[in-house]
Amino acid sequence: MYEFDLDEFSLSTGRGVELYNVRLLKMNGGEDTPERRQTIIDIHIDRHKLLEDYRATDVTDKSRFVELNERMVQIEYRLQDAWGFPRDPNYHSYWFQVHHCTCPKLDNMDFLGSEARYINFSCPVHGK
Ligand SMILES: [Zn+2]
Repeated sequence: MYEFDLDEFSLSTGRGVELYNVRLLKMNGGEDTPERRQTIIDIHIDRHKLLEDYRATDVTDKSRFVELNERMVQIEYRLQDAWGFPRDPNYHSYWFQVHHCTCPKLDNMDFLGSEARYINFSCPVHGK
């Protein structure tokens, strides 16, 4: 048993802090367990490592970005699994928050939940 009963708090990944929302987890039919917390921390640690890979990639290395983007999709799915959400790419929000990406952030935030994506064709990460 935990000594506190907060609905929301932050978990440290050692590379950043991530919000942990107990109410959201329970709404999705999930249980708040130490294993679940560790799973979510581990996924975010992988996400931070991936962000470093984006940062270290040369802007002209298109094939490398294709590979990194596929890894990001898998991380977003793992997070949806861990939080008890259905796997739905329309709710992915980390793909446009990577180094070198020039796609519009606010527009893509507004599009969350829809199939629409605002891709800047000159974006080194997602463009042509
Ligand atoms: Zn982009």
